[in-house]
Amino acid sequence: NQQILLDNRPVGEATASNFKLVTTDTPPLTAGQVLVRHHYLSLDPYMRGRMNESKSYAASQPLGEVMIGGTVGEVVESQNPKYAVGDKVVGMGGWQEYSVVNAEQPGALRKVDTTHVPLSHYLGAVGMPGVTAWYGLVKIIAPKAGETVVVSAATGAVGSALAALAKARGCRVVGIAGGPDKCKYAVEELGFDVCIDHREHGDLKSMSKALKEACPNGIDGYFENVGGYILDAVLLRANAFARVAVCGMIAGYDGQPLPLQNPALILVNRMKVEGFIVSEHMEVWPEALKELGMLVGTGKLRPRESIAQGIAAAPEAFLGLLKGKNFGKQLVKLI
Ligand code: NDP
Repeated sequence: NQQILLDNRPVGEATASNFKLVTTDTPPLTAGQVLVRHHYLSLDPYMRGRMNESKSYAASQPLGEVMIGGTVGEVVESQNPKYAVGDKVVGMGGWQEYSVVNAEQPGALRKVDTTHVPLSHYLGAVGMPGVTAWYGLVKIIAPKAGETVVVSAATGAVGSALAALAKARGCRVVGIAGGPDKCKYAVEELGFDVCIDHREHGDLKSMSKALKEACPNGIDGYFENVGGYILDAVLLRANAFARVAVCGMIAGYDGQPLPLQNPALILVNRMKVEGFIVSEHMEVWPEALKELGMLVGTGKLRPRESIAQGIAAAPEAFLGLLKGKNFGKQLVKLI
């Protein structure tokens, strides 16, 4: 069983030398446990916070342990009557090829049906990132038909679910993404009305001008994934009583400061700004997964994936995710 451990903590930017690849044997199973062979490992921005000593929105991970991470795979051995060999499951198996899971623990494993939804999508659009998009849009932004919703990191795992969800609610939906290829895909494949390239509009003045053109009726809802000058630009274009779902601020995860230029605009525009962590809202998961599964099953949401091959490729793929090298949900294929 090849595993990737957190070997040492980053000083400034994370690097491949923070990780260590080791090989171990999987222990024999005891009652209630199953052995899962992972097909895909999910790489997610929150993992960067776990690498630090200090508290982020995710708890710090101890050194010398397998990096935490969502996985999908297949039960290959079972000492649990509720799980049979061949069952497809989602869990938190971590950066390794196999995991031994106490399947009696509530929430440790979830069986999934791959008839209409490919297994890998349970780590993306029909999994944690999809539910994240759903929660921020439906519960925080709560848009009315005809309103304009903007989302940053629009083609990523979370952002890419926003267009279909917001369109189903009758909104105009504007994406912000890095580069012409991502923007083209956002409009042509994901259903965004417009997509702004933040590489082309790399400062506040230029971004706020682009937002003015893309949002002729102003901005009613903003789904924040990035932070920095993009948030400043959105605040300048926000309508009275606009809502901001603060989901992530990836531009600051590798240690860069993200000052806000004019927080008084929150008052001037009487805005609601609310942060959230999707795992603290388990009550919405069934409803959200049902809608997301339906959107994927009917082809209204066609998520894209960036797939690295083999566990040894995980560190570089993860560092790439923090720099926007991924195009869609970042996964590592393990078999
Ligand atoms: P993505 O698949 O969107 O990948 C990250 C993307 O962020 C990159 O592809 C890149 O897109 C963009 N990005 C990276 N660095 C920068 C930067 N400096 N400036 C602008 N854009 C940047 O990741 P996810 O969809 O998994 O996550 C998106 C956000 O949601 C993250 O902030 C994450 O932390 C957050 N999140 C929060 C959760 C919660 O419960 N609150 C749960 C899950 C995710 P591009 O090339 O288009 O710029």
